[in-house]
Amino acid sequence: MKIGTPKEIFEGEARVAMTPESATALQKLGHQCIIEAGAGVAAGFSDQLYEAAGVEIAPTAEALFESADVVTKVRPPTEAEVERLQKGQTLISMFYPAANENLMKQAAERGATVVAMDMVPRISRAQKMDALSSMANIAGYRAVIEAGNNFGRFFTGQVTAAGKVPPAKVLVVGAGVAGLAAIGTATSLGAITYAFDVRPEVAEQVESMGAEFVYLDFEEEQQDGSGTGGYAAPSSPEFREAQLAKFRELAPDIDIVITTALIPNREAPELWTEDMVQAMKPGSVIVDLAAERGGNCKLTVMDEKIVSENGVTIIGYTDFASRMATQSSTLYANNIRHMLADLTPEKDGSIVHDMEDDVIRGATITHDDAVTFPPPPPKVQ
Ligand code: NAD
Repeated sequence: MKIGTPKEIFEGEARVAMTPESATALQKLGHQCIIEAGAGVAAGFSDQLYEAAGVEIAPTAEALFESADVVTKVRPPTEAEVERLQKGQTLISMFYPAANENLMKQAAERGATVVAMDMVPRISRAQKMDALSSMANIAGYRAVIEAGNNFGRFFTGQVTAAGKVPPAKVLVVGAGVAGLAAIGTATSLGAITYAFDVRPEVAEQVESMGAEFVYLDFEEEQQDGSGTGGYAAPSSPEFREAQLAKFRELAPDIDIVITTALIPNREAPELWTEDMVQAMKPGSVIVDLAAERGGNCKLTVMDEKIVSENGVTIIGYTDFASRMATQSSTLYANNIRHMLADLTPEKDGSIVHDMEDDVIRGATITHDDAVTFPPPPPKVQ
C-alpha cells in the first residue's frame, strides 16, 4: 500500500504525521511512502531527508490524496480534506468523533475507512499507539518550560557569592499523563513540587517522582474522586469546597501553577479562582493546559498569554505539542506506524482491517460505508 502524508493546514500547526524514520519503518512493513512537498519543514524534516529515506514527494495535497491508499494526518481533517477521500481509502488521524459527527458521516458516505488516533483504547497493549498520551507527555513538559520562560527566577535553590536564592514552588493540579510529565520536569529542574488530583491512587506515583501529594481536610473515605477507566468523576460540592479552601491556603506561597484537570465529556472544572490569582505574588506564573476545554483558571484566555492586575502571568496556549514539533512529530509518527504495523499483520504491504481486534475496532470510526462509532466496550482491559 502507499502511505501518504499531506502538509497540515490548521493555522500554526507545525507537526507532521510521517518522519523519515517512521517512513523507513513503514517500508519495512512492505509499504511505499509519499509526502506532500514541504510537509515536514516546520518540524525540521526537509524534503531531501524524506527523499533520502526513499519517500516520494507529491507536489500538491491533491496529488497526495489521489495517489495514497492510506492518508496519515495529525489534526482532524477539514471538510475539504474529507471531500478528497476516495472509496476504499483509509485515513489515520486525530478525529475527536464525538465533536465532529458531520465530518465522520461525510467520510462514511464517501466510503473511506477512518482510524481515529484519539480513540485508541487505553489498554497496555495499545500504549505504543496512544497518541493522546504521547502528546500529553510533551504538553506537560513544555508547560513547565513555558512557565520557566515567563518566570524571573531559578527553579532550583542556590547559595551563590552574590546571594542565596530560594527554590521555586510549583503546584501541579491534575496528575494524569500531562500532570505527571509536568511534575517530572519541575522536580528535575530543582523546584519544590506539590501535586493534587481527585484520584487518590495517583498519590504514590506523585511521591515516587519527588513531589508532595496535597491531601485535603476531608473525610478519608470521601477523598475518592475516581470515575471509570482511570478518569475523574465530577466532584461533590463539599469536596470541591475543600479543594478550593486548600488551594486558597497554598496560593500566596506558590510561584508556578500548572493545571491539567479534565473530566471526560465535560468542560474543564474551574479550580483556580480569581481571588487565588490575586493572592499570588507578582511574577508568579499559571499555565493552564485545560484552556481548550474552558480552562481550570477563571482568568485564562485560550491561546493567549495575559498578565493579571497583580502581575501574575497566565498562559492559555493550546499548541504545546506543536511548539516542540520535532519531538512531537517523531512520537506521533511512531504511534501511527505502530497502528499500521497492527494493520499489516503479514508485513507484506497489505492492510488487513480486523474489526475483531479490540484496538483496531476501538479506533475505527467509519468502515464499509458506515459509521462505526461509538465502539462496543472492549473485551480485554
Ligand atoms: P485527563 O486528561 O482526563 O485528566 C487529567 C487529570 O485531571 C486526571 O488525572 C484527573 O483525575 C484529574 N482531575 C479531574 N478533575 C480534577 C480536579 N477537580 N482536581 C484535580 N484533578 C482533577 O487524564 P489522562 O491524562 O488522560 O489520564 C487518565 C487516566 O488514563 C489515568 O488514570 C491514566 O493513568 C490512564 N492512562 C492509561 C493508559 C494505558 O493504560 N495505556 C494510557 C494513558 C493513560
